[in-house]
Amino acid sequence: MTMLADRLKDRALLKTDSFIKGRWVAGAPWIKVVNPSDRSELARLTDVGAEGACQAIEAADIAFQHWKKTSVFERARIVRTWHDLIVEHADDLGALITAEMGKPLPEAKGEVIYGASFVDWSAEEAKRMYGETIQTPFPGSRGWTLHQPIGVVACITPWNFPSAMITRKCAPALAAGCTVVVKPAPETPLSALALAELARRAGFPDGVFNVVVGEAAPIGEAFTRSDTVRMVGFTGSTPVGKLLMKQAAGTVKRVALELGGNAPFVIMDDADIDKAADGVIASKFRASGQTCVSANRIIAHEPIADQLIEALKAHIDEIKVGPGFDDGVTVGPLIHDEAVARVEGLVKNARERGAVIHAGGAPLVDQLGGSFYAPTLVEGGQDFELDLANNEIFGPVASVYRVGNEDEMIRLANATPYGLAAYVYTRDVGRVHRITEALDFGMIGVNAPMVGSSATPFGGVKQSGIGREGGKWGVEEFTELKFVLLSGIDQ
Ligand code: NAP
Repeated sequence: MTMLADRLKDRALLKTDSFIKGRWVAGAPWIKVVNPSDRSELARLTDVGAEGACQAIEAADIAFQHWKKTSVFERARIVRTWHDLIVEHADDLGALITAEMGKPLPEAKGEVIYGASFVDWSAEEAKRMYGETIQTPFPGSRGWTLHQPIGVVACITPWNFPSAMITRKCAPALAAGCTVVVKPAPETPLSALALAELARRAGFPDGVFNVVVGEAAPIGEAFTRSDTVRMVGFTGSTPVGKLLMKQAAGTVKRVALELGGNAPFVIMDDADIDKAADGVIASKFRASGQTCVSANRIIAHEPIADQLIEALKAHIDEIKVGPGFDDGVTVGPLIHDEAVARVEGLVKNARERGAVIHAGGAPLVDQLGGSFYAPTLVEGGQDFELDLANNEIFGPVASVYRVGNEDEMIRLANATPYGLAAYVYTRDVGRVHRITEALDFGMIGVNAPMVGSSATPFGGVKQSGIGREGGKWGVEEFTELKFVLLSGIDQ
């Protein structure tokens, strides 16, 4: 256990107030942050409400006036320093994630390093936001484009990646010359506040990076109603994304939405089944299945379905469930007891409809004393009407279906309003092209169970969202494209 994890016990280090204009600001007494592994209290939050959100927006607006004019090389230097500090404190930041969210410590540190990679990438990429010179139809004229920072950006983030969902938005925004106000999830604010402290140490001027903690709806309304906020970057559920999009229409601000998913994991009869099973386990049980890109429907080609189920069962039998600080644990708790009850309901529906439960299938709340659910394997046969198939499971439940032919596998994979990530396992190059082109998803892993990196575009189609994070696209999102026409150059 790291030093910070030890100190968490006496709450010596936890900042629980909001961070506005470079200062820690207390609000009204609010809720507790609880460790989902044992329900122990980690911290008590205060709520700065809509008033605090408005103060942060104003601070961000004032800061924007000079931050946008700061040379991109200087901005990149500060962003890069933030990256270095995050990496330097990866052990402590990882421990914070494990304490407030529950994921196993090695996985939590992995999230910190993954999140930091976006900070590193953004610092470099912002320097390459090139405009273009354009031929025009008008004699004696020249045209060119500029990428300029969009302005104040409000970022609203979820609890499942308390650190990386913040850096993935804020780093490109800050590097591009925007200023930000972040509202983290109330379950996991400590990672956000630790990132704010490191941003302060990195040298961001006051008001460039702000974090407001408090009840969601009033803060969300303050963000979306404000004319000063020019963009809302949201990661979370599709219903809340739709609400924010509606609210943002009033001031016609840009929205970037990273929403829910219902990922199909399609395994063809020519696939390497051992590798496919490894891939399902990696995709399904990371963060106890609480990721937007988690394998939600494992669509197995009929001829290999039995072999796949046997391989998955063997893997699942070996998973060690427990508190994320314990050695060897690979599956931690769910975020809270309501999440356990939700997963229980999905499995109950499967059981009632005749699905076969090959492993797990029950909460471990009494046995382990926290919000735990057993790693579970459900065979749904051909029943794509199961609640498990039509909802984001967000829990450690793998549900496998059997389908006889490629066309039907593609049709069923696409039969969802979501379109975030999909996975295909096959060794047939023709199938790779046919299937990846036919799937209506923003990201597709072929023989690969994870698709995200700082260099590549992350995002969904259909009701999984709008916009892309990562790569050059991630920085571009936070800029406006301006066109300039100059005439009379031949006079
Ligand atoms: P959520 O309920 O939508 O909450 C996300 C954030 O939005 C939280 O900070 C929440 O605060 C806030 N929020 C809720 N109502 C709001 C409102 N009226 N105005 C402003 N903010 C509001 O989602 P979640 O349960 O935390 O996260 C799980 C979801 O996120 C899943 O659907 C998952 O797929 C999705 N996700 C998507 C991606 C991606 O990249 N596409 C990545 C990670 C997660 P409160 O909790 O206080 O309500």
